[in-house]
Formats: sequence, structure tokens, C-alpha cells
Amino acid sequence: MNNLLSDRINKLSTSQTLAMAALARDLKAQGRDIISLSLGEPDFNTPDFIKEAAKEAIDQNYSTYSPVDGYADLKEAICKKFKRDNDLDYKPSNIVVSTGAKQSLYNIAQVMLNDGDEVILPAPYWVSYFEIIKMAGGIPVEVPTSIESDFKITAAQLEAAITPKTKMVWYSSPCNPSGSVYSREELTELAKVLEKHPNIFVVSDEIYEHINFSGTFCSIASIPGMLEKTITVNGVAKAFAMTGWRIGYIGAPEFIAKACTKMQGQVTSGANSIAQRATIAAVEADPKVLNYMVEAFHKRRDLVVGLIQDIPGLKINVPEGAFYVFPDVSYYFGKTLKGTHIKDATDLAMYLLAEANVATVTGEAFGNPDCLRLSYATSEEQLTEAFRRIKLALTEK
Ligand code: PMP
Ligand code: GLU
Repeated sequence: MNNLLSDRINKLSTSQTLAMAALARDLKAQGRDIISLSLGEPDFNTPDFIKEAAKEAIDQNYSTYSPVDGYADLKEAICKKFKRDNDLDYKPSNIVVSTGAKQSLYNIAQVMLNDGDEVILPAPYWVSYFEIIKMAGGIPVEVPTSIESDFKITAAQLEAAITPKTKMVWYSSPCNPSGSVYSREELTELAKVLEKHPNIFVVSDEIYEHINFSGTFCSIASIPGMLEKTITVNGVAKAFAMTGWRIGYIGAPEFIAKACTKMQGQVTSGANSIAQRATIAAVEADPKVLNYMVEAFHKRRDLVVGLIQDIPGLKINVPEGAFYVFPDVSYYFGKTLKGTHIKDATDLAMYLLAEANVATVTGEAFGNPDCLRLSYATSEEQLTEAFRRIKLALTEK
């Protein structure tokens, strides 16, 4: 049947995070005792004050189309959030609210990229960047990093990756999947390189901004000279435990914001009205209201790093944010575990699912084939049990 579908969709890879989560869900439905560490999704409920705002919005009949780029008071609230948390001076005309940060990223690729434009992706990168860029005709240019550099790129690496075709650089900090957080000093070094290339735009994906244990956070747009060439992406899915509400937003130069609005005017007509009203409550709140979740993630990070360090052959950086660990598992490549030959990280992920009943995602999907990504957004009991099973599956003869 594939010949009936467009070349565009046939060329697109399935999202590995969502595919692994679906597989884990199916196996669970069949009665298997699966622990899923595949999907990056908080296990908390959306805070009550946000749910109340949504209920009020329903009662107040927010049931019609919103402005395509988002309600005016939501955009005002987002500007205040950018000022409060990031020292960024955006006006409402710089803001576009979309159906999840994923759609924000999709819009950006569609409005910025022509066929053959290169986009630098420090690897590992979030799984969907690659395909979103490809769908827009762009060429992802991966810049590898390693545990030794805490999975961050240096200014020299950035400089070396730039060609006359480079249009953009996309990165996330805190990073999905490595949890790495770029400091102001590191970003200033990268910004110095970009100063020499005024036509290169940056996508700074800050969706894990608040899930950060490093005590430091910097939006690259706040570095002098960068505001006009940065698109700051954020959303409520992760920090506010609102993945299903599907609200993301950007702060961007006005011409880019206008183009994104034009784009989604033909595609979605704007984001869900009730979820937008709830998002006002979320972005207006003092981020301290999230402390109980952030503290729980921090505790789990420490637990999981300890459990991984206890498994022979695995190497790991200490992630400073988000809720993922990204161990190097290459020690096991070429080995045979309980009769199964493991040639790469994808084989290892499938082996762990079959043998340990633990779902993970291959690092290949994130541009680092030596690693596996595991989400620790689940209870300490589940995490302890999952890593007990993983250790057994890897070490028991
Ligand atoms: N960026 C990163 C780095 C993510 O991990 C995710 C995960 N969902 C997104 C963007 C998309 O977020 P949303 O759910 O708001 O579409
Ligand atoms: N961002 C999450 C993850 O990386 C959710 C899944 C997705 O949107 O692809 O697991």
C-alpha cells in the first residue's frame, strides 16, 4: 500500500519514543509486567490550580476559535514569564502559542528552511528534531559529543560545522536525552561564533527549563546580540505535568512569529481554547509551586545514577536536568546475553524489553548509537525494580 502514500510520508521515520511507548502499552495490555522507561512524561497529575482554571474556562464558554497565535492575555502572561525567568524582552507580537512545543518546532522548520538548508544538531538531540527538519527539506548536520564533554558542543566544534549552507542550530538545554545544561559562559562562547554569521538562527528549546538541578539556567537569547536571531521554544508539558494538554509557545523575532501564525492559520487555526486558558494560570504562577515535582525528579536522578553505576560496563554522565539518563551501553555490543546476540543499542533495547520487561529507547534515535535513553519520570519503587531487572538481564549467565 505504501506506493499509494506520498514520498514525504514514506521517507519519514516513526517517532521512536512514541513507538516504544506504544509497544510497552500493548505488551502490558497482554498481561506482561512491563515497566516503561521509554516515554518522557511526568507521572504527576496536573496541579489543581491549573485544572481549576480550565474548569472555569469551560463554564465561561471559551468554546470558540481563539486568535490563531493565541489569546492576547495568554501572550501577555508569556511575555511576563520570559521577563521574570529569562530576562527576555519579548512583546506579544513576538509570541505564538501552538499545539505543543512539537508544533512550535514544526512551524519553525516549515517557515525557516528551504531545500538543502543545513541545520546543525549537537548530538545527542531530541528525536523529533531530525525528522521535523527533514520534512521541511532541511539537512540535519550532526555534531557528535561524548560523555567526556558532558554531551555538550564546544565553540570550536560549532565553528567547524558551519558551511555556507548553514541556516540554523537547534539544541535543548536541559537536554533531552542527556540532561546536560549549558551555562551562560558556554553559551556566550557559542554566541561569539555565531556573531560572525548574522544569518544563522538558533532554536533554543527550553521545555525542561524548570526541571533543572544545576542551580543555573541561561536562555541564549539573553546574551547580547542573540535576541534577534533566536527562537526560544518553551511549553507547559513537562514542568507543569501537562503533556496531554498540548500547549507550547515561542518567543521569536516578529517576522518569524508572523510566519508561524500564517502557517498554523492553515493547519490548526490555533491551539485548544481551554488548554490556553489553563496555561495562563501555569505561566503566571511562581515556579516555586513546582518544587515538589522538581525535588522528586532530583531524588530519582540520584537514585538512578547510583543504580546505573552499579551495573558493570555502563558509563554515564550525571544529568543536571530533564528526567532522562543516557548511559553508554557499548560494552555489551558484540556479546551474547542468554542466547541473544547484541550487535547495537537497538538490539539491547529489544533484549531488555524481552528479558527484563523494561522498555527503553535506543540512542540511535537521538543521534548517539552507543547509548540507551531511560526516562526516570516514574516512582522510586518502579525505578529500583527496573534497574534490578536490567542488571540481572545484563549480568546473569
Ligand atoms: N522538545 C523536547 C526537548 C521534548 O522532549 C519534547 C517532548 N515532548 C518536546 C519538545 C515537545 O513537547 P510538547 O509535548 O509540548 O509537544
Ligand atoms: N518528549 C517526550 C520524549 O522524548 C515525549 C515523546 C515525544 O513527544 O516524542 O519521550
